[in-house]
Amino acid sequence: MSDPGDWLKVVDDEGTEWSLDAAFLRSNWACIWGAGCKGIEATPDETSILGCCSVGAELLDDDEAMRIAALAATIDHAHLQFADELAAGGPYVEPSFGDRRHTRVVDGACIFLNRKDFARGAGCALHAEAIRSGESITDWKPAICWQLPIRVERPAEGAATLRAWSRADWGPEGDTMAWCCTEQAEAHVGEVPVVVSLREELTALLGEDAYAAASRALADGGVSPA
Ligand code: SF4
Repeated sequence: MSDPGDWLKVVDDEGTEWSLDAAFLRSNWACIWGAGCKGIEATPDETSILGCCSVGAELLDDDEAMRIAALAATIDHAHLQFADELAAGGPYVEPSFGDRRHTRVVDGACIFLNRKDFARGAGCALHAEAIRSGESITDWKPAICWQLPIRVERPAEGAATLRAWSRADWGPEGDTMAWCCTEQAEAHVGEVPVVVSLREELTALLGEDAYAAASRALADGGVSPA
């Protein structure tokens, strides 16, 4: 849905030059989890409401694995559908996909994803706890979870690109995915452009000043600032 080559440049407070996919930031992509998302398995599935959690959350490194484990240990078990599995003493993370590490997958999805049959409702338990605590989801969730569908790459020291995930970014698994929401018209139904709807996430990545500069530049191109 975005037009490759429509790049907006901003520099953050640390001197990193960001190339931003302006077409994606102007687009009205929206996460439609639970409202038509077909999941990322080979078979389209709008009813299980697993979204992109069906393979667990890939963790950046040991520090992130320890941070997520420590935060999860603070959540009241009444808010965790899979509290028994966590309490059983097994690891919160497991190696998978070669040497990459993921949150544990239980019953077909991330152990932290409460399912639609959970009495307190479906959704990410880490996300819900961040909201209950009045804290940012960027502090509570694995980076890949709060960033999706934003994809950041750092090709060189002092340079970064920010764009939408594409099917190809999922690797060989991407070829068989039933759904790549950034490429589907069904998920371009947001009431505001991505630069507005993902303000918290973009600010966490770019910093306040670079986010404001990007927002202003996009507004000059016809997108209302947040
Ligand atoms: S980000 Fe995309 S794949 Fe993931 S839950 Fe939302 S719509 Fe579904």
